[in-house]
Amino acid sequence: MLFEDLSLSKSIQRAVFEEGYLNPTPIQEKSIPVVLEGRDLIGCAQTGTGKTAAFAIPIIHQLHRIVGSSKKAKQIRALVVTPTRELAVQIGQSFDTYAKYTNLTQLTIFGGVSQNPQVDALKNRIDILVATPGRLLDLHKQGFLDLNHLHTLVLDEADQMLDMGFINDVKKIVKLTPKNRQTLLFSATMPIAIRELAEMFLQDPEKVEVSPVSSTAEKVEQRVYFVDKTEKRNLLYSLIKEENLSNVLVFSRTKHGADNVVKALRKKDIPAEAIHGDKSQNARQRVLDAFKNKEVGVLVATDIAARGIDIEQLPYVINFDLPNIPETYVHRIGRTGRAGNGGIAISFCGKDELPYWKDIQKLIKVDVKTISDHPYQWHSGSPEAGEKPKNSNRSGGAHKSRKSNSSKKNKKRWY
Ligand code: AMP
Repeated sequence: MLFEDLSLSKSIQRAVFEEGYLNPTPIQEKSIPVVLEGRDLIGCAQTGTGKTAAFAIPIIHQLHRIVGSSKKAKQIRALVVTPTRELAVQIGQSFDTYAKYTNLTQLTIFGGVSQNPQVDALKNRIDILVATPGRLLDLHKQGFLDLNHLHTLVLDEADQMLDMGFINDVKKIVKLTPKNRQTLLFSATMPIAIRELAEMFLQDPEKVEVSPVSSTAEKVEQRVYFVDKTEKRNLLYSLIKEENLSNVLVFSRTKHGADNVVKALRKKDIPAEAIHGDKSQNARQRVLDAFKNKEVGVLVATDIAARGIDIEQLPYVINFDLPNIPETYVHRIGRTGRAGNGGIAISFCGKDELPYWKDIQKLIKVDVKTISDHPYQWHSGSPEAGEKPKNSNRSGGAHKSRKSNSSKKNKKRWY
């Protein structure tokens, strides 16, 4: 299918063509006609599948027809609620790109920065508002925005909003919008709470789903290093140095850990920056821009901060720490090998992380290459050497999480 076949307005087709998109991605092919029909939609798709355009393009098409020619209309017609500031910025940029040959206007609002410029901007005509939940409710409470004329509401990354504790905010937001709105809900996974949310707020939704989360992993070249926990920094340094890696996105489980990795690399003269929730929005954006412009070769991120990072052709992703939720691994490595490009995902697995690695393998069903030719292995060798860890401290404090059942399952396997 071509974009031309979707009967989109010429202004959108032109913008999309200039972006170099020829064919809609599967989520776009399935969602765009449904949204154009005005129906509610549940989209099960993760970042990297082209889901932003899947909702942005039909919204722009509809609004362009309805309000595009009227200079007077001064009402928010579409609202996108998304969990993180980075995602909000990225979605706002996508709307700007696809709507550049229309006269629709969009505004992106998020917390962590002064509200004044956002309040000023809201005095102008805004057709499309992209927002994180907290700042949206805050500005609404102060009377700076009105959602009574909303045509379409998008709840983006709904599972992430749930994880981040925004579910009640999301419910409040939905209640501020008209009952006859169109609602589009996108989520990478569909836990019960999200299905309930959909049941509560969507009317006869069409469900579309693309490549289950585990399948993305097949396109990326994956390697695992079983490494002594205390040697992870040395391994990272030697990989970057010896293999001359640049444009590397490194995942750390904690903010503190991310800062420490950056410090260790800088000590060895490798320019690195961290991106996580403790940094101001401006600092995060600066770091991201520097990484995109290749001024900084290594970006160390936590999962939440990394959600909004969209860099095409990111060649390397390194899991400095393994995530305790297997789907997160797939999200992480999905940062590389985007839009058909190849990529390499390298994982460091400490002894205490072995249960997580087992869970990941179970999900992805890919035989990941073990690199054992390195000097930083577990003292007693890697699991491939036939060793079963006697005391892998897998329920230890550092990895305690809300999904600790993973550890319990693995206890059975290893003892
Ligand atoms: P998303 O899943 O919305 O984060 O999009 C992932 C990436 O795919 C972004 O860099 C988009 O610019 C790109 N993209 C979206 N739609 C298409 C398309 N139809 N063809 C090629 N690239 C696309």
